[in-house]
Amino acid sequence: MAEYEPVIGLEVHAQLKTKSKLFCSCPTTFGEEPNKNTCPVCTGMPGALPVVNKKAVEYATKMGLAVNCDINLRSRFARKNYFYPDLPKGYQISQYEEPLAENGYLEIQVNGKKKKIKIIRIHMEDDAGKSIHVQGENKTLIDLNRTGVPLIEIVSAPDINSPEEAVEYLKELRAILVYLGICDGNMQEGSFRCDANVSVRPKGDIKLGTRTELKNMNSFKHVQRALQYEIKRQIELIEDGEKVIQETRLYDEAKGITRSMRGKEEAHDYRYFPDPDLVPVMISEEELIKWKSELPELPQQKRQRFMEQYNLTYEEAELLTSDKELANYFEEVVKEYNDPKEVYKWFQTDVLRELHENNIKITEVKFGPKQFATLLNLVKMGKISLKIGKDIFPDVFVKGLDPEKYIKDKGLVQISDDSELEKIVDEVLQQFPDEIVAYKKGKKKLLSFFMGQVMRKTKGKANPNKVSQIFRDKLDK
Ligand code: ADP
Ligand code: MG
Ligand code: ZN
Repeated sequence: MAEYEPVIGLEVHAQLKTKSKLFCSCPTTFGEEPNKNTCPVCTGMPGALPVVNKKAVEYATKMGLAVNCDINLRSRFARKNYFYPDLPKGYQISQYEEPLAENGYLEIQVNGKKKKIKIIRIHMEDDAGKSIHVQGENKTLIDLNRTGVPLIEIVSAPDINSPEEAVEYLKELRAILVYLGICDGNMQEGSFRCDANVSVRPKGDIKLGTRTELKNMNSFKHVQRALQYEIKRQIELIEDGEKVIQETRLYDEAKGITRSMRGKEEAHDYRYFPDPDLVPVMISEEELIKWKSELPELPQQKRQRFMEQYNLTYEEAELLTSDKELANYFEEVVKEYNDPKEVYKWFQTDVLRELHENNIKITEVKFGPKQFATLLNLVKMGKISLKIGKDIFPDVFVKGLDPEKYIKDKGLVQISDDSELEKIVDEVLQQFPDEIVAYKKGKKKLLSFFMGQVMRKTKGKANPNKVSQIFRDKLDK
């Protein structure tokens, strides 16, 4: 069997977080009463004139800059004509021949290997409305609140060669959008959406195979699964002597498969032409310089800095910087407790687990960096054992409690007093004379059994280093 190489190109739609829509002053607030955020412009009334939202141009330009694009100081909107009930104008306003940004790239890293994915173009366009199919009733409702909300479409070259690379590319793209503060990146709510074009070819071939376009994936997992399924499907077709048909396919989340939605013969002819109602989008040199200077530290730069400043590996830095706020919180804690590696360990396990299990964002956590440092110090000073530190973490972290007061109130302070510990050790030794004999004959593993007994008696509060020292003093002589 010949070896095949998957070829993937992604089209990402990101909703821009502007206050008003792309061509009118209607608000973009989510969850409003249906059709409340509308006006003659976004509902496509004849004669209503669109005016471009400068903030949207700024945001789109910043994204272009962040992924190394050439910015066209003059770009142009075009009409993409098609009929759909939730598209009252009868066309989408997009950019076609003269997009805002072109020729960029994004660097990703998969399995320790860096790779540049070319970005062909980034253009602005307006979103369509929403059709709501009422369950059990034979009717469809239309909500035009989303109509005219600004989007950018980011089109990659077919440079991606595995589902893993595709997901990595999407994660990085989303992180940049969120870092820039121009998109909330929510895939479930559809503010970050992706269509995946995929084909396969015999390894070594230069010519691209026939592609299909996959839609309807609203999480990274779905993107990965849909691509895996589709790659396998295409290879099997070719192996069976059949042909891949160029078509759009929908991902079926429940079954984990893709199925044909529409074929090429039904493909639209959009009859693009420059929108006569809109003047070209002009950006001045001054604006470009200003927007460039306003770019924040981006994920890749932050990752690099974390690796150098905190002596972390790429994976460690990536885990922290995947979320800007998490990275900020980490830095605040390290300012209070200067042991980045140790702090990282707590983040990797305890912090992420609690955020996930309680479904909260780091910004909602009341446990401050100072309190975090206090907890780590209590462990370091031996006031509480590491185990107790870990045990109380969920409570203090989620509820934002003072660790020092907490351990006092609950009587969790570690027993480090020598004479007290010696008394407990003696009790254990008296209880297990046979085990002592076995230990002395060489069954050294029993030390952990003895330790366990002490921990049981003290409910985990005995200082483990001291206890093991006392045992060894008593038994190894
Ligand atoms: P369309 O106009 O149909 O959207 P484009 O040529 O603009 O088509 O390409 C859209 C996306 O499809 C791009 O991300 C591109 O990289 C990708 N693409 C194009 N050809 C292929 C192919 N043979 N296999 C995989 N992806 C492809
Ligand atoms: Mg397309
Ligand atoms: Zn409007």
